[in-house]
Amino acid sequence: MLHINDNYQKLPGSYLFAETARRTKAYQEAHPEQEIIRLGIGDVTRPLVPAVITAMHKAVDEMGRRETFRGYGPDFGYDFLVNAIRDGDYASRGIDLAYDEVFVSDGAKSDVGNIQELFAPDAVIAVTDPVYPVYVDSNAMAGRAGSWTGERWDRLVYLPCTEENGFVPSVPDHPVDVLYLCYPNNPTGTVLTRAQLKVFVDWARKNGAVIIYDAAYKAFISTPEIPLSIYEIEGAREVAIECCSFSKTAGFTGTRCAYTVVPHEVKGRTADGKEVELNAMWKRRMATKFNGVSYPVQRAAAAVYTEEGQRQIKEVIAYYLENARIIREGLSERGFRIYGGVNAPYIWLKTPEGIDSWTFFDKLLNECRVVGTPGAGFGPSGEGYFRLTAFNTPEKTREAISRLDLFKL
Ligand code: PLP
Repeated sequence: MLHINDNYQKLPGSYLFAETARRTKAYQEAHPEQEIIRLGIGDVTRPLVPAVITAMHKAVDEMGRRETFRGYGPDFGYDFLVNAIRDGDYASRGIDLAYDEVFVSDGAKSDVGNIQELFAPDAVIAVTDPVYPVYVDSNAMAGRAGSWTGERWDRLVYLPCTEENGFVPSVPDHPVDVLYLCYPNNPTGTVLTRAQLKVFVDWARKNGAVIIYDAAYKAFISTPEIPLSIYEIEGAREVAIECCSFSKTAGFTGTRCAYTVVPHEVKGRTADGKEVELNAMWKRRMATKFNGVSYPVQRAAAAVYTEEGQRQIKEVIAYYLENARIIREGLSERGFRIYGGVNAPYIWLKTPEGIDSWTFFDKLLNECRVVGTPGAGFGPSGEGYFRLTAFNTPEKTREAISRLDLFKL
């Protein structure tokens, strides 16, 4: 019989969202007359914008005519999209990317999950804590995380992000090969200033480490000084791979399109000490295991960069950020300590003294009929915190916040 990858047996169940859904369902069944408001939604809710839909329709029609039909596309993305990304997201900010440094894909989740295939089995991995679980689980599946102790993986380096450090971790204090960073952050909603991001880039350059920079939420950055890309920091091209997505930028969670940037300067070494470009390895990996994003979806993504597309997606982002403002201000007025929600769709709140994050979840559900996500589910340092999201409607968001008056301390 096949000997399976035993690392899969070590993975704890994906408990967080299953458990919040179970508790919510139990409450709803016991109180069918009550309306629950969901501020735990991690998915977009507004439809695709007209510019995107028009481009996608046109491309679908092209696929239906012999003269314009297309089969397999280029492995790393069509020219029109790769160039729109280079111009729209990078050249416009003074960052020059070579054509073959951009890889179009079906999602940032796939890219941040798959990128670890390029690292040695014994590479030492660091993550911020709390964390988007894909970085952790994908490395655990490959055996790099060690054993699950019930709370943490014993071979991963966790960098705590707490109120005390403003959710900006210190650089690792022992040798690390790869560091995953996500800014704007899920779940804390925090961002890094240029100076803060430079500390990580300088650390990686000094220590021969690689940074996987997940910028899936960059479209929410509204403060002008906050960098949209890690490549705005000098030297980042030597050490950073950046993963971006149209999911949150343009509502593509169900449409699927993203891209990853792998500069030629990012290098690793073989067992016998030879230097290798990660770009060449990623090319090889994508050409072998991926067959491209569909033509209509790439046309739809390219439409995001048109003047009309930009105006329309900015309006949608502003809608979510307005919800975030309603949550932030409503919570502050009610005496909660809150973080994020200015340059991110996530608001991270400190649970009141003596109330852990799952107890807070239950109280919010039972007393206010509002659902959010317990911070403990994102990692050990998430205990004592709670995540609310800006993806509901303004009406429901306002109503949810006013219900917090029912919360009993
Ligand atoms: N990265 C982070 C931090 C996320 O929170 C998410 C989705 O919630 C993703 C990546 C997934 O992006 P995509 O839809 O492009 O796979």
